[in-house]
Amino acid sequence: MSSPPCNRTPENWGYKMFRTKKASSRAKPILYLTTTVQRAGNTYPVEVYLLPKKNSSAVIKDGKVILRLSQFLTSKQREEHIRSLVDRISKRIEEQQPKPWEFALEDGAVLNTWGRRYMLHVKASTKPTPSIRIKDQAITVSAPASPTARLTTQIQQTVRRELAQVYQPVLEEFMLGLNRATLRSGKLNRVTFREQKSRWGSCAANGNINISSRLLFLPTELLAYVCIHELCHLQHMNHGKRFWALVRKFMPEFDKFRKQLHQY
Ligand SMILES: [Zn+2]
Repeated sequence: MSSPPCNRTPENWGYKMFRTKKASSRAKPILYLTTTVQRAGNTYPVEVYLLPKKNSSAVIKDGKVILRLSQFLTSKQREEHIRSLVDRISKRIEEQQPKPWEFALEDGAVLNTWGRRYMLHVKASTKPTPSIRIKDQAITVSAPASPTARLTTQIQQTVRRELAQVYQPVLEEFMLGLNRATLRSGKLNRVTFREQKSRWGSCAANGNINISSRLLFLPTELLAYVCIHELCHLQHMNHGKRFWALVRKFMPEFDKFRKQLHQY
């Protein structure tokens, strides 16, 4: 059988056409304008999108403000909506308590992570891309002076990723010890720190466990609780009564830690 001259076989076309049709039926946001807003010592880029919907809304995502406006508004109404949404989001930024993993990029600051203290060295650099180096108990960040909120978020993320690598063998050792002392499950496979936002941990059917690298910045007992929690999922892949009984068996005071995690 000869191979087709290109991969646009009739099947492919049909599939593509179907996909295109489906995609176009969904609302596609139109970038209306971009600006910036300065709050709490940070500069936030703002992107305003127009959408075929009734209400306007605002969110902060990765250090960026995203406004979604109804495209049915007049230009005067758009201006009013933008002003009131920026006001609302600015209040939210000011009220926001920084999370422990959103540490300030201050020279000489100390980061307390899982049983260690890291000293943060921040150096002003003329290069647009920051560099991050972790050696012994020191984290050196070279970044442009007064970085944008977005760049700060990126630097924090990279530091968490680098720290996660440093801690990876510690986590493996910890999990193995925990498993030996509790469940003694043969299903435990790999355990990995992940830069995940929505969950503290996850457990797959193949025995792979992921732990959020944000937990490195929280009290050790909270990290231990998430590890026990995920370990118990090796036996019960649900949050049923028997699952919680198992967690309680290995960590009687777990409910306290579970509640504490909700604060973050
Ligand atoms: Zn769970």
